[in-house]
Amino acid sequence: SLFFVDLDDLKSINDNFGHFAGDTIIIASGKKLLETLSRYNAFIARLGGDEFIALLPGCVDAAELSRIADLLVQNLCQDYLLSTTTVRISGSIGIASYPRDGTTVEELIKKADNAMYAAKAAGRNCWRFFEDDMLREAQEKLLLTNSLRRALENDELSLVFQPQLSLEDNRLAGFEALLRWHSPTYGNVSPARFIPLAEQSQLILPIGAWVLEEACRFLQTLSAAGYEQVRVAVNLSSKQLADEQIVSTIQEVLRRTGIAPQQLELEITESALLTALDESCAKLQQLKNLGVRLALDDFGTGYSSITHLRLFPVEILKIDKSFIDTIITNEDSSLVNSLIHFAQSLNLRVVAEGVETKEQLEYLRQYDCDLIQGYYFSRPLPPEEALLLLEKHDQNRTP
Ligand code: C2E
Ligand code: MG
Ligand code: MG
Repeated sequence: SLFFVDLDDLKSINDNFGHFAGDTIIIASGKKLLETLSRYNAFIARLGGDEFIALLPGCVDAAELSRIADLLVQNLCQDYLLSTTTVRISGSIGIASYPRDGTTVEELIKKADNAMYAAKAAGRNCWRFFEDDMLREAQEKLLLTNSLRRALENDELSLVFQPQLSLEDNRLAGFEALLRWHSPTYGNVSPARFIPLAEQSQLILPIGAWVLEEACRFLQTLSAAGYEQVRVAVNLSSKQLADEQIVSTIQEVLRRTGIAPQQLELEITESALLTALDESCAKLQQLKNLGVRLALDDFGTGYSSITHLRLFPVEILKIDKSFIDTIITNEDSSLVNSLIHFAQSLNLRVVAEGVETKEQLEYLRQYDCDLIQGYYFSRPLPPEEALLLLEKHDQNRTP
């Protein structure tokens, strides 16, 4: 049987603590593999990066393989002290057996790799046997990507707009543009599913350009209706940020649509910025110089770092829904409170994402959060409805 082992999230260790820290962890994990598997006569190799394979001769019994895999997962999961913080590293494992899953080296490695991806998708720090379904999943992704290729020209994409409420003056301050795909074959496909496919296939570049254009059209509509102060935020993928042309693309869209740069906001996640830290920061600075506003999206997921908050030229911080979810239930809700005030001390405006209840809203109001976005105020709306809500909200407003 062949074990395909991949360390979880080593990339963010490299990004946050440097390659030396990453190397140390790879070496320590290699030793753990040797220690755990030596008594099974295993042949162990590092494929590259944070990937290892282990070959266990004569071992195909599912019960025994499960026991070994359990032990390996347990032993790989370790705390490491890096400079001043402790980080926990774990591994994900995929298993394929000869001859059931394949009769060639390539086939076995491919299937164990597929199974490893399934372990990652199941939340990491676990293992999976290869199953035929996993190949089906890979094929489905391929089919979905092919349909996505035609989605733009066939007019299957649209934008919805989710309003953001300013708690300071109770005004509808802006919208976040969110992409929707209605496929004739697959029905409504969630962006959480198709955006990663678009990123893997580089389709995100033409799609992202279309989103920008369409969002600016909505801004034109808003301006024509007298709402020049209302902003629209667009999500920018790491692939778009890595694109050489990104600054000029945005400049060109603004010019063509005649939108004031201040009306456009760009949302970027921390992990997208970390892909190429220096270059990303330089591009962000250029974008900021154009006059557009920058927001750090999903803050609090992954290795969020306070240093980054000072390093990135962003003006807005969006606190991830997972934090907002804990406000009421969690005894220690002071975290969100502290985060809001810390961000404000750096002159950032704070948006709370995924606000679903009145209690959450009241907590956030009490602790001076600047803006909220979430189902409690409104779901994402098609452009016409978004405009209606704006009109309604505007009339209801006490001057
Ligand atoms: P995001 O940028 O963090 O967007 C917020 C997501 O949270 C949206 O999901 C929104 O519908 C959802 N949401 C808002 N309020 C609530 C709430 O109260 N409760 C719950 N449960 N959910 C809420 P959506 O539209 O499915 O988008 C998911 C992700 O897909 C986005 O996360 C963003 O990362 C990505 N995405 C969406 N549109 C685009 C796009 O045009 N370009 C790029 N690059 N990514 C996009
Ligand atoms: Mg967003
Ligand atoms: Mg978000």
